[in-house]
Amino acid sequence: MEHVPVVVVGAGFAGLAAAIKLREAGERFVVLERAADLGGTWRDNTYPGCACDVPSHVYSFSFAPNPDWTRAFSPQPEILAYLQRTAREHGVLPAIRFSHEVLAAVWQEDARRWLVRTSAGELTADVLIVGSGPLSEPKEPDLAGLETFAGTTFHSAAWRHDVDLTGKRVAVVGTGASAVQFLPAVAAAAGAVSVFQRTPPWVLPRRDRPISPARRWVYRHYDPARRLTRAATYLGRESWILGFSFQPALMRLAERQAREFLARCVADPGLRDALTPRYRLGCKRVLLSNDYYPTLTRPHVRLVTDRLVGATPTGLCTEGSEHPFDVVIFATGFHVTDPPIARRITGRGGRSLAADWTAGGMRALHGTAVPGYPNLFFLVGPNTGLGHNSIVVMIEAQVRYVLDLLARLRGSGAAAVEARPEAVAAYNDRLQRRLATTVWNSGGCASWYLDENGRNTTLWPTFTFSFARELRRADLADYRLIPAARPQRELVPA
Ligand code: NAP
Repeated sequence: MEHVPVVVVGAGFAGLAAAIKLREAGERFVVLERAADLGGTWRDNTYPGCACDVPSHVYSFSFAPNPDWTRAFSPQPEILAYLQRTAREHGVLPAIRFSHEVLAAVWQEDARRWLVRTSAGELTADVLIVGSGPLSEPKEPDLAGLETFAGTTFHSAAWRHDVDLTGKRVAVVGTGASAVQFLPAVAAAAGAVSVFQRTPPWVLPRRDRPISPARRWVYRHYDPARRLTRAATYLGRESWILGFSFQPALMRLAERQAREFLARCVADPGLRDALTPRYRLGCKRVLLSNDYYPTLTRPHVRLVTDRLVGATPTGLCTEGSEHPFDVVIFATGFHVTDPPIARRITGRGGRSLAADWTAGGMRALHGTAVPGYPNLFFLVGPNTGLGHNSIVVMIEAQVRYVLDLLARLRGSGAAAVEARPEAVAAYNDRLQRRLATTVWNSGGCASWYLDENGRNTTLWPTFTFSFARELRRADLADYRLIPAARPQRELVPA
């Protein structure tokens, strides 16, 4: 069977960062990617209007600057093209095995290796770096009778571009970051649109603007200008943590701005009331859109706030009413706190990562290493998500950390490292204490940041530079070193 020292799972932002840095470090590795192209969430989410709500100059790799971003908030095709170009220019394309979905990864204690079974064969690896991402498995509601619906249904992350919405009766279920981006385009084509809202989001104006050719010219020819923009954007975003995490009451200022924005966009008091959130701003992801509220005031667009209870062959049902539709679009989010990849990972002694995380909640030392799973490292693992800044900053810090850990592992002569349970417990206790007073935990809402037991297992509670500082150097005291397996003695016939 083929053996590769390092296997990276996924070729999105995280997997590509790992691949590029592994290559620079002279490591031998492969990237296993389930799809036929790279890009992760930026490959899968092709819905109309898809764009990043974090400015591109900071939502990009520090080691692969792009002076040519055309807008403050780049649209999805531009981000995908950036990732494809970056992978090509950094020479990692040959290392990516497309259409290789990881079906199972099992730690083989005797060999001190991971056995990785993919949809295209098996291989073994000393080290497994998982960059499969928290927003990669679409989640659809379990609506009774949905299988009988004769119209078309699809999820926002698997947009059916072959479905012509012109003149159709369309249901949009969900009002999160995805829905607010595509609703205006759907409403522009459809004959009638019903938006099923369970909880109103806080929406602020989107300060998007084109970046002029002159400015791009300056960025291309005078890199300090680009770096200054990146730094200023980064610090501006970073300052949001003061309200989100340190003093949630500060969010009242932004709430006032959001309420004024809503009042400017929506004249009807009944609709305005239905769209007014009753929890602290920031508790759920703050949405940026200039055309979401205006779209909801269009005559053929209706906001439905009654709870969905099921489906019939012709439409969706709320308590006591049936609503006929031709197309139902689910913008209902992702499996974040119950990542399906965990069900595919078996650690020391046959333990299942999904079972471990169901019992104790997702947890990992620095969002990276889990006790019982030697030489397994997550990127964008537990409590590394952000409500305020660019996830790319976190990814780069984690990749540096994993490479440092690998170098120390090699230097130690051991075969594997495994996070110590007591180190993870202490780390997690500290995180959870810190998270308790943040807006995400105390803001009075339910969100995908919290698991079904109300634990925040997704977000990093403070500044991203604190995370990067903590991960600058791996502390081997937090790990157990596992010596190489003793070679099997050959049996010599007597
Ligand atoms: P989401 O934020 O999880 O939103 C899901 C929506 O579906 C929520 O409004 C939720 O209501 C609703 N919902 C879920 N189950 C439902 C049910 N059974 N009945 C009725 N409504 C239901 O998902 P998303 O909009 O795809 O965004 C996910 C994340 O992706 C974002 O938070 C963000 O981090 C990222 N994203 C980023 C961008 C970007 O610009 N960078 C764009 C899109 C997405 P409740 O609020 O009541 O739960």
